[in-house]
Parts: sequence; structure tokens; C-alpha cells
Amino acid sequence: MTDVFQLIEKLWYLRRDIISDGYDQALSRLAEEVPMVIHRIPSGTECWTWIVPEKWTVHEARLETLDGEVLIDTANHPLHVVSYSLPFEGVVCREELFQHLHVHKTDPHAIPYVFKYYDRDWGLCCSRELRDSLQDKNYRVVIRTTFEPGELKVGEVFVQGESEQTVVVAAHLCHPAQVNDDLTGTLVAIKLFQELLQKKDLYYSYRLLILPETIGSIAYLSQNEDQIPSMIGGLFLEMLGSDSGFALQQSLLTDSRFDRCITSAFGGAAPEGYTAGYRSVICNDERQFNSPGVRIPMLSLSRVEPPGSPTRPYPEYHSSMDNPSIVSFERLEQSLDLVRSLLQVWENDRYAVNHYKGEVFCSRYGIWPDYRTNPEGHRSFFAIMERIDGGRTLSDIAIELGIPYQAVESITEMLAEKNLVSYSRTAQSSDPHTG
Ligand SMILES: [Zn+2]
Repeated sequence: MTDVFQLIEKLWYLRRDIISDGYDQALSRLAEEVPMVIHRIPSGTECWTWIVPEKWTVHEARLETLDGEVLIDTANHPLHVVSYSLPFEGVVCREELFQHLHVHKTDPHAIPYVFKYYDRDWGLCCSRELRDSLQDKNYRVVIRTTFEPGELKVGEVFVQGESEQTVVVAAHLCHPAQVNDDLTGTLVAIKLFQELLQKKDLYYSYRLLILPETIGSIAYLSQNEDQIPSMIGGLFLEMLGSDSGFALQQSLLTDSRFDRCITSAFGGAAPEGYTAGYRSVICNDERQFNSPGVRIPMLSLSRVEPPGSPTRPYPEYHSSMDNPSIVSFERLEQSLDLVRSLLQVWENDRYAVNHYKGEVFCSRYGIWPDYRTNPEGHRSFFAIMERIDGGRTLSDIAIELGIPYQAVESITEMLAEKNLVSYSRTAQSSDPHTG
């Protein structure tokens, strides 16, 4: 993780619009970090109900007084123009200008990040402070942008495990001149995959997809439909570098094995974090993975302010204030640690098979938790022990008892040490009434 801030310095300010030179530059730089296949999907390609848009380039975008005083200029900040703005040059009255001049909802000093990929309009962005100071009757607008056929690019990193069953990790890279959303998710994912690539004993396979938001997921999935059946779970990553607490958003398929496992693991790995339902924290590419005809249970991990906060997800969201000063090395490191531990639980989560019948005679094995000194431990030991039957995974037991995965694992590990329990990838029911 030590070099992560060098990468942030290099990549954050690039004009990384969905199909653009800046995006391509950022992806190529990331491809130096990990073995990456870059998929190219040309503009105009039909991807299910979507069509890949054209490449967009800004040459210059300015707002001037009629005397030629420059008020807004993309040379000073890339966010001063709406992403995918149409070209426009002319003199407009103040009222018309204001219909095309966007400001941030909460921060009067921030330039907002605004994108209009599909509703074809021109637009500039500035701070509310600046907009409020505009008193002239007319202004000159110069927006020189071009649209041309290009290629949407998706970076794929694949790590082969013993099983073909694949966990897909997704992050987007298409937010120009911003860091927490979206560079931090991408960088944590890259670091995670550098580690996964070193591992020799992975059971599951892992696929990282770095893409432009929404259209990138649609494009990749529609062009690689044969991979969808083996993708059994997913995790979307973003907003992982700021001070807010962790939020885990469940998938649409809350009963999936992946949801159950990751949710119960999150309870133990980030006890101060919170878990919430699908689409209730943030909406991103996980929507496409969970969608009809795809149905990959993809959860989402981010750091956001608690529900009810007026600046949720965080104050600098989608603005020029989302710069390197709001992310810290420690937060990124914590985020990587959390993602790593969630996936480690997914690797470990198996059926716990009992080598005993009846309750274990704990005193004989020296594992009896004394209810007089440790009533809670005593209760949960027996609650876990009596559910180990070869038909439940560790996360099944955790969910059933409403306790973290890690609490269950500490007991099964103790029993495994005494050869009273073993683990299996498949159900091995010891109930004489089944099978
Ligand atoms: Zn965003």
C-alpha cells in the first residue's frame, strides 16, 4: 500500500470521463500494477438495451464577460464543464446561462461534478459563490468539445483458484479529478488483487473489473455472457479513503450464500460499521450485476456518513473538494484489511461436520466454558455446538444465531483441534432422517 499515494497523485486529476483519453491513460497506468486484460468495446455497440456512446474530448471550456474577463475556465479545474457537454459558442443572457450553470447542493465553495451522457445538453459548473456574483445581463460561453467513435475500455484481472466459481470485484474509474469517489475503490481493489495473485491455495477464482460506471458493467456483461453463470458473488468498492465509518450494502439476493457469508463476516470484522439493504446506501455498478438476466449477488462496501446526515454520503461527494486531502493512508489500509478479511472468510466458510453424536462431553476434552464465570460464552458454545450437523455452513450458524461469523469459527476451530469437527465444501448431513 506504500506506493498508493504516488498513484493517487498521478491519476486523480486526469479527465477520466467514461470514454476519453484521460480514462485510457489511467487504465494503462493501472495495468502496470497487475497483469490486466483490457477489453475494448467500440462506440455504437449494442449492449443489451444500451448503446456504447462516443468518445468525448474537451478542448476548452470558458465563461467570459463581454469585456473578455475569464470567469470560469477548464484550464483551472476539469470539473468546470459538464462531462459529455455538447459544444456551444455564443452570447447568452444571464437567465439562459443559469439554466446551464450548475452548482453544488451543499458546499458554496465547491465546483460540482455533473455528467450528462445521454440527454445531450451543454453545461458549465462553478461554485455557488461565483454564480451568485454574476450580475451582468449577458455573458460569452465557449465550449469546444468533440464527439467521435472510440472504444469503451474495461480492465480485467483474473486469479484462478481451484474452483471455477468466481467472485467478481468491481470498481469504476470514470470520475474526473476526484479521489474518494472513485479512485480509492479502484486502488484498494488493485492492491487486493496484487495479494490474491501471490496466493497459491485459493479455492475460489477472483475477477477484478475496472470500468466506467454503469455502461462499463453493461458492456462487459453483455459481451461476456458465458462468464455470468460461474460468477457466484460480487463486491463493489468505492469511497474507501475518507473518515466515515464502513457501510456494507447487501445485494438484491440477500439469501444468497455470498450475502449470508459476507454479511456475517462484516459483523465481526467491522463491528462499528453498519449493514443495510440493497440500494439503501449508494447505487453503483452493483445494480447491473444484480439485474434481471444476470442475478449475480453483488454487495457494495464503502465509507459513508450515517443515515439521516444531510451531507451523506460525505460532504465532498461529487465535487472539486473530493481531492487527495480528504483521504488518508490509514483509512485506505483499514479498507484493504477489511476487504481482505471478508474474502478470507468467504474462502474459509464451509460446512462444519460433527464427529460426535449427542452433546460433547466437554470436561473430558478440557473445553467446558464455566457458566459461573462465563455465562455468555457457555451459552454461545452450546448454541453453536448443537447446530454443527454437516448440513450448516459456519455462516449459516452465525446468521441463525445472529452473531458474527468469527464467533462461530472460534468454537469450530476449538472443536476441530480436538478432532471433534472437520470442514467440508459440500453438505455432509449427519441427521439420520435425511438422505
Ligand atoms: Zn460517483
